[in-house]
Amino acid sequence: MIRCISCGAEYDDDEIIYTCECGSILEVVTEVDNIPKETFDNRRDNIWKYKEFLPVNAENRISLDEGGTPFCKCDKIGEELGIELFVKVEGSNPTGSFKDRGMSVGTTKAVDLGVNMVGCASTGNTSASLSAYAARAGLKCAVLLPAGKVALGKLAQAMFHGAKVFGVDGNFDDALETITELALNGELYLLNSINPYRLEGQKTIGMEVVHDLGWKSPDRIVLPVGNAGNISAIWKGITEFQDAGYIKDTPMMTGIQAVNSAPIANAVKAGTDEVTPVENPETIATAIRIGAPVSSVKAMRAIKESNGTADTVTDDEILDAQKYLARTEGIGVEPASAASIAGLRKLVENGEIDQGERVVCIVTGHVLKDPNVAIEACEEPTQVASDPNEIRKVLQTM
Ligand SMILES: *Cc1c(COP(=O)(O)O)cnc(C)c1O
Ligand SMILES: [Zn+2]
Repeated sequence: MIRCISCGAEYDDDEIIYTCECGSILEVVTEVDNIPKETFDNRRDNIWKYKEFLPVNAENRISLDEGGTPFCKCDKIGEELGIELFVKVEGSNPTGSFKDRGMSVGTTKAVDLGVNMVGCASTGNTSASLSAYAARAGLKCAVLLPAGKVALGKLAQAMFHGAKVFGVDGNFDDALETITELALNGELYLLNSINPYRLEGQKTIGMEVVHDLGWKSPDRIVLPVGNAGNISAIWKGITEFQDAGYIKDTPMMTGIQAVNSAPIANAVKAGTDEVTPVENPETIATAIRIGAPVSSVKAMRAIKESNGTADTVTDDEILDAQKYLARTEGIGVEPASAASIAGLRKLVENGEIDQGERVVCIVTGHVLKDPNVAIEACEEPTQVASDPNEIRKVLQTM
């Protein structure tokens, strides 16, 4: 069953619908029988491990073995900040971001509904992921990207997997409005995160975190927030496992936004539930360059119910954290993902995060997604003759 998060109106599973008649957004209600948590232990480590919680037919799944991503304890950064830190590396998914979890469930639903074309607007990763999953499902695929604002690796993926790629004048919010019009007209099945089946796949991040911690909740989960689907999804996964009796406590959901693309953090700081869109969002972290988050109501609820918070970081703080994570712990992430680490540092510094807290940072996409930013952040390779003497001279200065 699909249900409106505001008025509670209910819709059938096989209805193609993205928003309620009242204008609000929808969620899938999953009904799960009593399953002992040991059920999940001897299954392959991907999102389908929790198939009883996924509201599609797992027999017919469109899957690239997504999920089951690395969960790295990061003692060097943890000790420096006086916390216990785990980093969940979503860049290890098949196309290099957490979007694969949602697209696996989303394209499975698309096939089940019998549609023949899927589409999305994207800052990059949604299109990279959908293009791959649509190929696997044998579906036609159209993606709308803000022209000139998509990181190189993501663009390459969307094109290479065979989607019809449009570069549109305008930003992500404009592109989403346009593709939504086509979807509402029945011309394609929309797989942006306004589609509640996407979030059903992504909620497995939260499930994996508490499972990996031995059925315990961390004190806090910190992640970057753009369209605000992922923070909502992770909270849904956590609360479903709490309702099932697998965990007692829940984490404080902590969203990080770039300072000039921060409608949710602005609302949290102002102490209001009203999220005011940001007109011309800007940040080097293109994956979270979003001014009017579709899932803002869900995200605000997740933050409030979990006793969490949201904050902002600057582009410089993001780039600094990206390099710090790569060079301290060996984990390479794209700029948006590094917002979680930048936010963690800031919240520890200003005392919002307590010493000794057990924190999980979700790093959402791979460093290779945005090779230009990575290369610009570094010194050029040192040009030498292929001569040990020349190289030795340099090594001795290290
Ligand atoms: C999509 C994306 C985000 C933002 O997730 P939302 O669900 O839109 O809040 C963050 N980081 C990366 C790498 C992404 O691809
Ligand atoms: Zn409604």
